[in-house]
Amino acid sequence: MRKVKFSNLLDGYANFRQKIYPKHEKLFKELVDKGQSPEIMMISCCDSRVNSTQIFSAKAGDMFTLRNVGNLVPPYELDGGYHGTSAAIEYAVTELKVKLIIVMGHSYCGGIKAAYENNDAFAELDAETGKGFTRQWMSMIKEISDDIHECHHDLSERDQLKRLEQQNVLLSLKNLRSFKFVQDALDSGELEMVGSWFDLDRGIILIGNEETGEFHRIKST
Ligand SMILES: [Zn+2]
Repeated sequence: MRKVKFSNLLDGYANFRQKIYPKHEKLFKELVDKGQSPEIMMISCCDSRVNSTQIFSAKAGDMFTLRNVGNLVPPYELDGGYHGTSAAIEYAVTELKVKLIIVMGHSYCGGIKAAYENNDAFAELDAETGKGFTRQWMSMIKEISDDIHECHHDLSERDQLKRLEQQNVLLSLKNLRSFKFVQDALDSGELEMVGSWFDLDRGIILIGNEETGEFHRIKST
């Protein structure tokens, strides 16, 4: 089995040190002196193919970025659990006062596929194997996964998954509103939210319409 060594990353690091950092050194120093004040929060998937800063050609300091399996936002809950996603949203909205939250789903999402395939067997954590975190996390979308199975089984599997990936983005927007500080910021006009879906096949972004549930291509120059 081929081993991945940290030293394999050193060429990329050398490129950062020799070319990228010098080009942005002033910006990095400013971000240290003044602190970060990103206007955008990006919520996207852990998937290695979906790199939001690359897609939007963003610089350091532009985006407060949260990545988790399936780009999910859980509903507001007071259950004493460890809510890393909710903590990041709270910090972004109440402290950084971001003006825009973008939730970005994507095609071929492994988390969404796991939810779709395990629709009838969302599991509790398995004490014996120590596994089950992904299925438990993805059980958040059981309702919309059920809906796809029941109402859209005539579509191809890829189209069903695409629909679930996109509906999942809209569910995350809905769940964002369950946080009072998010709803307050939306009501006062200080915050906007956008749901998007990245098409890996074509390298394009589609934007969701919460009213129609449809996603449409946007123009880029
Ligand atoms: Zn994904």
